[in-house]
Amino acid sequence: MFVDFVKITVKAGNGGNGAVSFRREKYVAAGGPDGGDGGRGGSIIFKIDDNVSTLSDFRYKRKYKAGNGNNGSGSHKSGKSSEDLIITVPRGTIIKEAETGTVLADMAETEMFVAAKGGTGGWGNSHFATATRQVPRFAKDGMPGEEWTLLLELKLLADVGLIGFPNVGKSTLISVVSEAKPIIADYHFTTLIPVPGVVRMGPESSFVIADIPGIIEGASEGLGLGHEFLRHIERCRLLVHIVDVAGSEGRDPIEDFNTINTELKSFNEELAAYPQIVAANKVDLAAPEQLSRFREYVTDKGYEYYEMIAPISEGTKELMQAVSRKLSKLPPVKIYKASVVPMESLASKIDSGFDIKIEDGIYIIEAAWLAKILSKTNPEDYESLQYFQTVLHTSGIIKALIKKGIKEGDTVSIYDLEFDYVP
Ligand code: GDP
Ligand code: MG
Repeated sequence: MFVDFVKITVKAGNGGNGAVSFRREKYVAAGGPDGGDGGRGGSIIFKIDDNVSTLSDFRYKRKYKAGNGNNGSGSHKSGKSSEDLIITVPRGTIIKEAETGTVLADMAETEMFVAAKGGTGGWGNSHFATATRQVPRFAKDGMPGEEWTLLLELKLLADVGLIGFPNVGKSTLISVVSEAKPIIADYHFTTLIPVPGVVRMGPESSFVIADIPGIIEGASEGLGLGHEFLRHIERCRLLVHIVDVAGSEGRDPIEDFNTINTELKSFNEELAAYPQIVAANKVDLAAPEQLSRFREYVTDKGYEYYEMIAPISEGTKELMQAVSRKLSKLPPVKIYKASVVPMESLASKIDSGFDIKIEDGIYIIEAAWLAKILSKTNPEDYESLQYFQTVLHTSGIIKALIKKGIKEGDTVSIYDLEFDYVP
C-alpha cells in the first residue's frame, strides 16, 4: 500500500530539573550551594532518506517521543541530556502543523528539520547565589519539550507529471524514455505508486518524469485512486497529457481529454492552468480520421501536440525533446515556503492551567502551554513581548499573582524568563 499522507504526534523530551544542594565539608556547617543543572530533553528531528519513497513506515506508528533530560544533582553535577530522536522521511515530504495547516518544512532541499525542540534543563541552585541571597533553597524546573500534531504529506519532486486515463500508455512511455521499469499491463490501476524516472537528454541535461496513476472521473471527489495522487502533480512544472487516440477501450479521445482536465480543475484550479503538452498514443490502432479529428481539436485549443506509438518508441524522442525545450523556459520545481505557527493559534491552548510557587520571594510560574508560547517569544522584539504580556493577562496569571500578594519590583520567573513585576 502506498501511503503519502499521515497525521502523527511528536513530543520532545522535557528538560531535567535543576538540583537544590549544598556543599558538605568537614567542620563547615553549611557550605555554598552546589546544585547542578538539569540535562536537555531530546529533540525530534526529521531527516531525508533517499532510499525511502513512501510514508508507509508511519502507518502503524503515530506517536514519537524523545527522552527527557535527567535531573541535576549535588557537587555541581549536571543531569545527562537525552539523545535526539531522528525520524527519516522520503525526499519531498512536506511537514505541516495539523491544526493551522502551517507549512513548517518542505523536505525537498532542507535535509534536516527540528520539529520539536527538547526542553532546556533547569538551573541548579548554585546559579542563584547572590550577595543578598547566599542560601538559595530553590532551583529551576526544566522546560517542557515541545509537542506538536503534524501532517506529513509526500509530494513528488518530478519535473513532469504524466496524466491521463488508465491504460493509455503512461507506464509504457516512462519505460521507454527512462531507466524506470513500471508495471505495464492492460488492466486499470496497475500503477499504484507514482514511478519517477530520469530522462537523460545529454550529458548535462536530464529531467524527472513521473507516471501518475489513473485519474478517473470523480477522482477529485475522492472516487477511485486519482484523488490522492493528484497531490503529486502539484509540484510538477509541466504536465504531459496522454490520450488513447484510438479509443481502444470504447471511449472517445476528445471526451477523455476534457474529463481529465475537468478533474484537474475541480481538485485544484492552479493545476488545470499548468503548462500541458498533449501526446496522442496508440496511433497504430487509430483510424486516420480519428487521428485528424483529435489533432485538430487539441491544436485548435492552442496545445503543443505530439503523436506516438509508445511501445516501439515511435515519436517518443520528439516528445521528450519538446518537454526538455519547454522545461528550460519554466521555473524550477516548486518548493513550499516554510513559516512558523502563528502565536495566536497557540493561545487557543490556554486551558488556564498553571501553578504559582513562591520561593525566596520569587514568584515561579509553571504551565506547559505557556512554555510553548515562551519558546516562540522573541524578547528582543517589542510586538512579540507585547503578545506574551497579553497572554499573561488573558490566562488569569496576572490576576493570580496579585491575589498571592505580588508587589512592584518582585521577581517573576517563568521557565528561563525572569522579570520584575510592574503593575
Ligand atoms: P497506463 O495505465 O497508462 O500506465 O498504461 P500502460 O502503459 O500500462 O499500457 C496499457 C496497455 O496499452 C498495455 O497493454 C500496453 O502494451 C498498451 N499500449 C501502450 N501504448 C500502446 C501503443 O502505442 N499501441 C498499442 N497498440 N498498445 C499500446
Ligand atoms: Mg501505468
